[in-house]
Amino acid sequence: LPLDQLIASLTVDVPDHPEPGIVFRDLTPVFADGDAFRRMVDGLATPGASDPRTAALATRHPGGRPFDVVAGVEARGFLLAAAVALDAGVGVVPVRKAGKLPRERVSAEYTLEYGTATLELHADSVRPGQRVLLVDDVLATGGTLGAAIALVEQLGGVVAGISVVVELAALGGRQLLAPHTVHALWAT
Ligand code: 5GP
Repeated sequence: LPLDQLIASLTVDVPDHPEPGIVFRDLTPVFADGDAFRRMVDGLATPGASDPRTAALATRHPGGRPFDVVAGVEARGFLLAAAVALDAGVGVVPVRKAGKLPRERVSAEYTLEYGTATLELHADSVRPGQRVLLVDDVLATGGTLGAAIALVEQLGGVVAGISVVVELAALGGRQLLAPHTVHALWAT
């Protein structure tokens, strides 16, 4: 099966979760399938150029890796980011929900349907000019990845790519994140 069809076939739709009217895409069976996990991790590692500056950076690193570090968004993004980073031979850093990281950190607030939430990144997780691949499981409204982008950029990092397993296209996350581009393994 092509990867998008494999992901689609293993994803379980859960109606009315976490609240009535929401159909939650449960990807845990995709993660649990060895072949699907392998192919998913390979796909996430090749996002193409997400930032106009990335092309210029790539020419300064001919033949090298297109990113220097992988950042995963809590919590399912951690499972993916660690695998992608290990495979690529780079490190992994966690983008966490507020209050979890113990040391100096940067914060970015984003809007939820009701209210706001905050994501954080340790201040020494990304150095100026470092190329960061952002990874999460699902792109919905884009608020979460938008905050993650803001954190990387606050530290002077360059978003070298944004990779997700599933894009819920009707929610407009891709438009919110422009001019960054999102690499989605399955758009639905
Ligand atoms: P956004 O901020 O783009 O609206 O929502 C994306 C975040 O919420 C991601 O971190 C993702 O894990 C989670 N999320 C939103 N909708 C779903 C869904 O249907 N399935 C899963 N697995 N995660 C979701």
